[in-house]
Amino acid sequence: MALARDPLVEARKQLRSAIEILGLDDEVFEALAEPERVIQVKIPVKMDDGRVRVYTGWRSQHNSALGPYKGGVRYHPNVNMNEVIALSMWMTWKNSLAGLPYGGGKGGVRVNPKVLTPGELERLSRKYFEAISDVVGPDIDIPAPDVYTDPQVMAWYFDEYNRIKRGQYFGVVTGKPKDLGGLEARIISTGYGVAVAAREAAVKFLGGIEGKTVAVQGFGNVGYYAAKFLAEMGARIVAVSDSRGGVYNSKGFNIDDVMAAKKREGTVARYEKAEKRVGALEILELDVDILVPAAIEEVITEENASRIKAKLIVEGANGPTTTEAEKLLSERGVIIVPDILANAGGVIMSHIEWVNNRMGGWITDEEAIRKLEAKMSENVKRVVNYWEKKLSSKRPLRDAAYAIAVERVYKAMKLRGVI
Ligand code: NAD
Repeated sequence: MALARDPLVEARKQLRSAIEILGLDDEVFEALAEPERVIQVKIPVKMDDGRVRVYTGWRSQHNSALGPYKGGVRYHPNVNMNEVIALSMWMTWKNSLAGLPYGGGKGGVRVNPKVLTPGELERLSRKYFEAISDVVGPDIDIPAPDVYTDPQVMAWYFDEYNRIKRGQYFGVVTGKPKDLGGLEARIISTGYGVAVAAREAAVKFLGGIEGKTVAVQGFGNVGYYAAKFLAEMGARIVAVSDSRGGVYNSKGFNIDDVMAAKKREGTVARYEKAEKRVGALEILELDVDILVPAAIEEVITEENASRIKAKLIVEGANGPTTTEAEKLLSERGVIIVPDILANAGGVIMSHIEWVNNRMGGWITDEEAIRKLEAKMSENVKRVVNYWEKKLSSKRPLRDAAYAIAVERVYKAMKLRGVI
């Protein structure tokens, strides 16, 4: 998904503000405002009709002080170099905050994958990975799925890398299919992590998750699993929506029943056991305890912030709240669990997969999910603790998350003698 503003400008603003909170010198900003390396590659692909089309791709490696670069690859017609660089910077903070031994990286190919045949998609994926094969590797940079890339694409990357290197390096990509060393639990990991983050925040700020009402915007991978697991944890999911609208029921929904309706009808908006329909944006303003935006960026804005009634917002999507809206909400005492904390479940599960691959291990999905839960829960507590001890309660939790993330990277750079 292309971001509306120049995401690199936004990313640098956030970095600047974290550096101010930490009281660090301007040279630290300079050292972190640019990626360590960004490569642009040309990807000639033979199409099914015999013609050759040339695509452009990037891999940005933002920072490696904490370990190998880690981050997904997106295929999108609007992706550009600045977006890839910004996303790689966000991965540095997400990985650092999560306590993983990873730096931040991100890749992108400017392509509309929906118009490619499976054969064209495979050739594009292999050519892209071949083009970046000198700068990736299990100890260097470990790609994973992102927008419009999936386990099958990872399987092609994995095979291409091992063909070139003449080895069996399972840890070169994560998010692989189960039969190639992946974990089935990866599919639930981001949504499950969002649910655990919501539960921890609810325990801290709302007196528990049991019986709390929740609205979830977006019923895709993240929204569906977040809703499903929050319901299992005892919350009442009273509203869900997708791009075509949403539904409300004060008694709460059976999430799998809603999913069955979405599969049948193509949208949750036609689910028959609803008390009323709600619009895609109206769902944000419902009178609920917890709001989980899990669809797209910049939906909570200066314009609608004053009408939001939830006491707790848990960001499943990347960047759903604008800076201006966050300021207004924080002043009113609304707690926002920021994206880099709340939706880190995917990369945490990737780390579990990578460790398992490198040990030649056989971790079970159940064990992996237990590890993910423990890590998410510990991470939320760490951020809340920092926020309570070091920041004013009028400041957003995001400030604490960024300060912790940037400080860990700064310390690693200092220890290495990089700065
Ligand atoms: P997805 O494509 O599976 O689902 C997106 C959902 O949002 C769909 O239900 C879609 O109908 C809905 N939607 C789109 N536009 C909408 C609108 N205007 N109003 C309401 N709903 C709308 O995507 P996903 O993987 O669930 O990702 C959702 C968000 O979470 C994105 O911001 C993504 O970057 C972020 N994220 C995803 C992961 C992951 O592992 N999947 C990890 C971290 C962050």
